[in-house]
Amino acid sequence: MIGSKSDKSSSPKECDCFIGFISGESVTKSTIWKEAKSLSNLQPIFKECGLMKSQPLSPKQILDNRRGYLSRFGYCPYCGDKVDWKKILSPLD
Ligand SMILES: [Zn+2]
Repeated sequence: MIGSKSDKSSSPKECDCFIGFISGESVTKSTIWKEAKSLSNLQPIFKECGLMKSQPLSPKQILDNRRGYLSRFGYCPYCGDKVDWKKILSPLD
């Protein structure tokens, strides 16, 4: 029968897209905010230890392209989906 669903082998939209790096750590769509937050939480400690001269940043600032912490992919290397950065960076705060 045409239209039968049983033939779908690839799972649609299951990919947790690999979207870039934060300070060398690879991040996916679901971990990017967690990584940014953990880095944000560490920065005051770095600062106390004298490892950081600038002000600790918020997760949002860390994810700001201009700060240079985040390397962004244009496309997910696994599924080839275009990375919707606007969408990824806009929620939560
Ligand atoms: Zn993907």
